Amino acid sequence: MTVRGKDFDGALDRAAHHARAWLDGVGERSVPPRADADTVGRTLAGPLPERGLAPDAVVDELVDRVEPGLMAIGSGRFFGWVMGGTLPAALGADWLVSAWDQNAGMRFATPGVVAVEEAAGRWVLDALGLPSGSDVGFVTGATTASFTGLAAARGAVLARAGWDVHDRGLTGGPAVRVLVGAERHDSVDLALRYLGLGVPTVVPADDQGRLRTDALAAALADGPAGAPTIVVLQAGNVHSGSFDPFAEAVPLAHDHGAWVHVDGAFGLWAAAAPELAPLVRGFEAADSWATDAHKTLNVPYDCGVAVVADPAAVRAAFGVHTAYLVDAPGPGNPYDKAPELSRRARGVPTWAALRSLGREGLAALVGGLARRARGIAEGVAGIDGVRVVNDVVYTQVCLALADDARTRAAGERLVADGETWISGSRWQGRDILRVSVSNWSTDEDDVARTVEAVRRAAHDAA
Ligand SMILES: *Cc1c(COP(=O)(O)O)cnc(C)c1O
Repeated sequence: MTVRGKDFDGALDRAAHHARAWLDGVGERSVPPRADADTVGRTLAGPLPERGLAPDAVVDELVDRVEPGLMAIGSGRFFGWVMGGTLPAALGADWLVSAWDQNAGMRFATPGVVAVEEAAGRWVLDALGLPSGSDVGFVTGATTASFTGLAAARGAVLARAGWDVHDRGLTGGPAVRVLVGAERHDSVDLALRYLGLGVPTVVPADDQGRLRTDALAAALADGPAGAPTIVVLQAGNVHSGSFDPFAEAVPLAHDHGAWVHVDGAFGLWAAAAPELAPLVRGFEAADSWATDAHKTLNVPYDCGVAVVADPAAVRAAFGVHTAYLVDAPGPGNPYDKAPELSRRARGVPTWAALRSLGREGLAALVGGLARRARGIAEGVAGIDGVRVVNDVVYTQVCLALADDARTRAAGERLVADGETWISGSRWQGRDILRVSVSNWSTDEDDVARTVEAVRRAAHDAA
């Protein structure tokens, strides 16, 4: 049978209708979901139906069931965790990625989307000021991007010690020492666990969560000379937004023969805004970097980016050489640069986002997020009983009331209020409310409405 566009009309027309309705309302609806997963689940509880349903009706039914459980992540007043919205061009490209249904693992099989991803990769390196010869892998998120960079790191530091981990595995080989800052993201520990590297050695951090260079120097000097060593640094602390001191820490780690990996899930993008770029000074001398496109760049989930300066190191970890997969020399296949074979062309929306922004638009996006964060910090600092507890250098603002109980009560009031979503968390021994400005659409009006929402919550919690 010949597939025709009209076979898809019903489903696509309904999907486009519902998508527009969602996007039309997402900026004004109450930000938190109205129903929890169990409530939504009860509407989906039946067994697999014997009879199927027409595609347009399936789409309608899906929307009907899921709607009460949707979080307005695309709202300009959603500040939870660190989650971006989606830029229009990126969303359009993402729809096409599904319609084209290309398996983006192999260069010769799906040349169109692979070429677009390669262009997106070059633009990411250019925009962030990373070494132009690096391999770029498009992965599901920064956790997998760190897994990718650290897999390359593990292979390289063990190879220098005369041990081929890709051939022989870890058993019987030299121990790999991994040094991380006290306030690294949990995903670094996950990536290390997936790699069989166990629990890392913690290097103390300062009051903003930055790894301390003197402590790193002591930790590096402490180990056996020449031991295979990996140092993980951070660009963008989820609480304070702070950056590790790359200009001192990277050369120090390299002096000890260590591989340096940078987790910059949202912070790496500071490099793209001239006024913020000093925050990442020296980071380009590291060996691998993990970042997300689905946070600061505002492409739809899921898209992380793994960058490794030495292509041979990442290809040794991930390349496959089975007979049915034709090898492309030079640029390498996508599956050489990331831990997946078959996958969607998730780098295509990144190309579209960067194409729609341009260098200027990207700088304005990232700079704008930091400016809104400062605006919120200044606004809430003027509220009786509310304190900003971090130095606001980037997109993250942490608030606290007089004590933990009041802070928690204010957090509950904020959720009930529905005007914003601000995550509760714990940082440096106290409960806090954390604002992460990560959505391209957050504007001055959102800043003002957020300050007022915090004022109401703080008043009720006092
Ligand atoms: C979000 C985040 C991660 C994890 O990224 P995922 O895309 O969720 O896998 C890692 N590190 C930092 C600093 C983050 O903010």
